Amino acid sequence: MQAKKILILGGTRDARQLAFRLIHAGHDVTTSFAGVTEHPIQPEGKVRVGGFGGAAGLRHYLVSENYNVLVDATHPFAAQISANAVDAAGNIALVRLERPAWVARPEDHWINVADISAAVDALPPQAKVMLTIGRKEVAPFVTRPDISGVARMIEPTSIPLPAIWKLILERPPFSLASEIAVLRENGITHIVSKNAGGGETEMKLVAARNLNIPVVMIARPFKPAVTTYSSVEAVNTHISKLGSKCG
Ligand code: NAP
Repeated sequence: MQAKKILILGGTRDARQLAFRLIHAGHDVTTSFAGVTEHPIQPEGKVRVGGFGGAAGLRHYLVSENYNVLVDATHPFAAQISANAVDAAGNIALVRLERPAWVARPEDHWINVADISAAVDALPPQAKVMLTIGRKEVAPFVTRPDISGVARMIEPTSIPLPAIWKLILERPPFSLASEIAVLRENGITHIVSKNAGGGETEMKLVAARNLNIPVVMIARPFKPAVTTYSSVEAVNTHISKLGSKCG
């Protein structure tokens, strides 16, 4: 197997696991963070932080640093960087690692919406909401005066939440028992979730099913089609088969 110089666009648990796997397969691996989270869990290998300056900046970085392979292992909702990766890759091999979306079961009560603003509109007056969409997009929910609840995220928002909202700072994974407890203790009537997929945050959906709570489920944004795998092992195999001239 030819060792490759690989850039992983990260910010996810999948990206961390991939970095570990590729390093142990003998590759030279750097993980890139946007710099949104102040204290991300560090992956194995090298790390760089901050935007590249659009697709052109990413292209310049890839070429000047002699990367052979670019792996887009960003969150399914990070649409801009994935589009940039496609525009920047050129002759450099590009592969995406993306977990499958969650699929509703017949007994689930999902309200499927296209985006954040449709999610805000889908909530009825006086709803007690559990927001699980990260910290960047909470504003349109918490500024709606007729709803309240719990906003859960890893790091706090830059501005304080209104007093009728409870902030929970926690990092996944979450157990079914703890998800049921948080929903009951806060009298939650609706959950708002991005369709992130993956096991780490899935228990809220099982808890909602058990407690018969509706989930406002935000669909994934469009990402341009590229070779995509849902497992770390499949990406590793794909890279191991790439020719020595890739990039
Ligand atoms: P985005 O909207 O797709 O990207 C916005 C800009 O941030 C990009 O144009 C790029 O700046 C920079 N960027 C994003 N990911 C980067 C990376 N891995 N390395 C270097 N620069 C990056 O992304 P986002 O939704 O804000 O998410 C930012 C990061 O958080 C992503 O890496 C993602 O994996 C992670 N994340 C996002 C979510 C979510 O719900 N969106 C959830 C969990 C984790 P330049 O154009 O200047 O290069």
